[in-house]
Amino acid sequence: MGMLPPNLGKEIKKMYSQIMNETGEAVCLHMTPNSTDCPNCLSGPQGKSLGIYDSSFVVPVEIYGDTITPQSFTRGRCPVCYGKGVLEQDVEKRITAIVRWNPTNDGDMEQTQAGIEGLNIVSIKSSKCYYDNIRDCVKASISGIDCRLLNPPVLRHIGRTDIVVVAFFTSIDPGHSSNG
Ligand SMILES: [Zn+2]
Repeated sequence: MGMLPPNLGKEIKKMYSQIMNETGEAVCLHMTPNSTDCPNCLSGPQGKSLGIYDSSFVVPVEIYGDTITPQSFTRGRCPVCYGKGVLEQDVEKRITAIVRWNPTNDGDMEQTQAGIEGLNIVSIKSSKCYYDNIRDCVKASISGIDCRLLNPPVLRHIGRTDIVVVAFFTSIDPGHSSNG
């Protein structure tokens, strides 16, 4: 059912990628960061810093492009990892997507957003090759606003041809982050 001649499927795909390139905007997906044990402190079984200087760390090492120099400390928080026990590196994936803020009366919405009020919802449509990236991202910067995924992304297809991946995000309420 709904099968299209293969060439037509190709044409539609081509058309979509053209639309994407012309009307899409850059979306930055933040993936799970890389992380490695902090060389400057001892960590417990859960990988948490014990707040104790690792005296075997004497030669500077390079981690994620930064030179980490031994910084001995006697009390309190490790000055290298700030007590986290690990050093992290952001992993970002930039994609082009068609972005719509607070889409209403949109067929795409029906199975998703009933009942969520007072939140900014944003839909992104992108090439289906980014499905995994979108599904796995920790958060996304959309139009410069930090957003988190509301539901697993879905593929939209015409006939048997998968065309785009559609995902809904909500803006992360800045009121939730503490002012330090
Ligand atoms: Zn540390």
